Formats: sequence, C-alpha cells, structure tokens
Amino acid sequence: MAVPAALKKISATIWELPVSYKAGMLVPARIIADERLINAMDAGVFEQAANVACLPGIQKYSYCMPDGHWGYGFPIGGVAAIDPATGVISPGGIGFDINCGMRLVLTNLVEEEVRPRLRELVDALFQRVPAGVGSHGFVKLSHDEFCRVAEMGSRWCLKHGYGWPEDLELTEEGGCFAGADATKVSQRAIERGYNQIGTLGSGNHYLEIQVARPENIFDGETARTFGITRPNQVVIMFHCGSRGFGHQIATDYLQRFLAVMTSKYGITMHDRELACAPFRSPEGQDYFAAMKCAVNMAFANRQVILHRIREVFSDLFHRDPDDLGMGMVYDVAHNTAKLETHLVDGKRRQLLVHRKGATRSFGPGQEGIPERYRETGQPVIIGGSMETGSYLLAGEPGGTDTFFTTAHGSGRTMSRHQAKRMVKGQKLQRDMEERGIYVRTASWGGLAEEAGFAYKDIDAVAEATELAGLSRRVARLRPIGNVKG
Ligand code: 5GP
Ligand code: MN
Ligand code: MN
Repeated sequence: MAVPAALKKISATIWELPVSYKAGMLVPARIIADERLINAMDAGVFEQAANVACLPGIQKYSYCMPDGHWGYGFPIGGVAAIDPATGVISPGGIGFDINCGMRLVLTNLVEEEVRPRLRELVDALFQRVPAGVGSHGFVKLSHDEFCRVAEMGSRWCLKHGYGWPEDLELTEEGGCFAGADATKVSQRAIERGYNQIGTLGSGNHYLEIQVARPENIFDGETARTFGITRPNQVVIMFHCGSRGFGHQIATDYLQRFLAVMTSKYGITMHDRELACAPFRSPEGQDYFAAMKCAVNMAFANRQVILHRIREVFSDLFHRDPDDLGMGMVYDVAHNTAKLETHLVDGKRRQLLVHRKGATRSFGPGQEGIPERYRETGQPVIIGGSMETGSYLLAGEPGGTDTFFTTAHGSGRTMSRHQAKRMVKGQKLQRDMEERGIYVRTASWGGLAEEAGFAYKDIDAVAEATELAGLSRRVARLRPIGNVKG
C-alpha cells in the first residue's frame, strides 16, 4: 500500500496531509505512526482523516492514532476537537458502540496459583458473563429502571450492591457523564438495551485473564502505583460497551442528522457517514444527551460485569474479593465525545473532543484523574489481541498535541471476512491451548475473525505512542485465558 504523495513527514512519529490535499479541509490531518506503521497504514485512514478535517469547527488537526484503520465515517483511531460554539457533533466520530471501553482489574494471585484452576475459571466466567450477539444479563430491569441506569451509570450499580465505592473513583468521569437524558432515547433503543446489562457482546469484546511477567514491566514505579506489585501477578482486562442500546441511539441520530444537515443547516460533507449537526442545535443537544445515556449504560455494564468477575473468583478461590485484592486499576472509554478544556495556541478553551477508537490519556497533574494517579498520569488500557498481548500505559505531558489522546488497541490489519477465510475457530482454539491460552467463545466464526494475525503489532503501536510523547509503557500483559464474544 502506498502512502499519498502529499503526505509530509513532520517528525519520526507525525505524518501530515496538508489542507490542499482535499477540497474543504479546514485543518491539516495528522497521523501518529512510526515509519513501518505508516507504510502499512490502511489507505482508508488517509481519506477519512482528511474528510474529518472538513467538519465545521474543527481545531488544529484531525488526528488518527497508530492503531488506525478504516471505520464508519471517522477512521477507527480518529480524533477531532471541535469548537462547541461554532462547530458540530458527529455520531461517526463516536462510533456505534458508544463508550466501548476497557477495564483493568487486579488480583493478588500469581500465575502459578491460577494455572491449575484456569479451565474452571474461564468456564465459570463464560457462564456468568454472557457473551454473543443477543445475550441477556442477569439484572432484571423494567424500562423505567433501565432509564435510571442510563442517567446514573455506575452510581446506579453502587446503590444496588454491584460494586465498591472506590470503583467509581477509578472509572473515567466517576462512571457517569452528567447531563444524560433518557427522554431523548427511542423506545426501540430501550427495548434493545434493558436486558443487556452485564453482558459482553460479540466478536472483538472480551474478558481476559492476563499475567504481568517481571521482564514485561517497563516502568516499575508506575506499575506499583497502578497496583502491579508481584512477579507474575494475575490481572483481568475486559472490553465491551453499550451493546444494542448505544447502537440504536447512534442509528437513530444518524438518520435524524442526515435529514437536517444540509436542508436546515447548509452543511455538506464528502461522506454521508460524517452526518453531523451544529452542537448548539436542538438536534445536536438531543444527541449529546442521548449519547450520554449510552455512555452511562456502558459504564454500568462494565460495573456489573466486574461484580460477576469478583463473584466467580471468590467462589473458586474461597476468599472474599477484597482479600483477593480485586480492586480496579482503571476504566477508560474509547468511543465518546466530551467537553474538555485544552490549551490551544496558549489559550485555555473548551472543546468537544470526539474520540473514536482512541483513548483519553491525561498526563501527570491534570484535573479529572484519580488523586492516586496525579503524579503518574492516568492509566491507559489497550488491548492487543487474544494471542499476543496487551498494554498498560500511562498518560504523558506530550499528549497536549493530541488533546491528550492515545491509541486504544493494536487495530485490525484485515477485514473480519478475510481473517475467517484464513483460519477455523476450532483449530485456533486448540492451537492456543497448546500455547497456554485457554479460550471460550460464543461463536467459532467470531473467534477466527479475532486471530492474532488479523491485528497489527501491539508492541509497535505502544512504542509509537511512547515515541510521540502521548503515553508511556508501564507493563505488557500476556493472555492466559479469554472469554470471547
Ligand atoms: P475495538 O474497540 O476497535 O473493537 O477493539 C479494540 C482493540 O482490542 C483491537 O484493536 C484489538 O487490538 C484488541 N482486541 C480485540 N480482541 C482482543 C482480545 O481478545 N484480547 C485482547 N487482549 N485484545 C483484543
Ligand atoms: Mn465495542
Ligand atoms: Mn472497543
């Protein structure tokens, strides 16, 4: 794949398409990658990052992270900071799985203690944390009560006994975006979501048992602050979002935006998938309030899943979750839009930061991160693949360039369809088991789509974010067990 001729190398990790690249670009588009990653970059990223640069109100640069690849409207890995007074909000910049995110949970167990019980453990998790497309959770809610979950997020969970007070402190925004309004959500969305609290969903979503080997610790001091203190300590990373609820909200508002974007607001975009509306318009504000409901539902979903994980470990190891040291490291979203204050050309400005497949990465000393991480920067949790590994990173001061945003994973190198043609799910499971990774899945086809070779090199992605000054490597985490959607 050739990069566009117009692509300029700004530094070892910054590549830029100038505004002359495409009609309508208001700012240049910048891609964060090293030489190898940029040369292998999905061609769709260049076009989509340039399209994003045309969104009214966009500030400084349209960005794409090193794990970028083609997505709906925005590339996965896309970032746009938009002036809320004059600019737009775009559902394609947030994604269908609103507040898809990653949560990392500690244990004080080590690999040697978990290995003998690994099958049992993964089997129990597979049973207690439903995976697959239409899976239902154990929390039974009326539509009205579900609306309260959507407005309260993780706070609802705490009130109903699904969590510890410190879980909220260790969740981005305390597990609740203020201003969620369930009256802005369709009945269809509620219908799709009300019985899905506590479920993983399909495909790329997962619940993984991982090990922090001593040779994979990059920054021991920060690792200790994050709770990784023993050699071969076992941790649990899981990845899921707002399920059918968020998907329906995105679908509803994309339609509504398309109906008014040009006729009412006179906005035209290169790509219909970049449907948008002025942030301050009734449509924009309604979507923002509805999107927050999906954000909160996803926080609650991950909170209830954590509750189940603690139950499973506690049952199996006959110890309290507390005694097992099952506190959280952090929960961080990678599909959201949020009003945040950033320095732009030396001035503090409020911006609507869209992050789609991109993780907020606040550096040391910044407001909005838990007290205990003030000196290290916030934990950033990024998946690699079920076969290779994942990373725990920390936010860095250099993040100011990307509105404090970094990668969210390794990113796909090929379509799901392509991956499925290359390997069979059953065979992959057997091969992985021989290599010491026990995986259970709701779908063999889905498992094949997620093979390690379908993803970029996570080590290269994590390193590129570090070289770019966005986030530093704290620990590389190796998978030993996985529940796959
Ligand atoms: P996305 O949010 O774009 O669906 O996926 C986030 C990232 O998670 C992917 O880019 C990929 O690197 C990673 N990922 C997908 N499946 C797995 C898995 O089973 N285990 C781990 N550790 N990472 C995964
Ligand atoms: Mn998702
Ligand atoms: Mn995700």
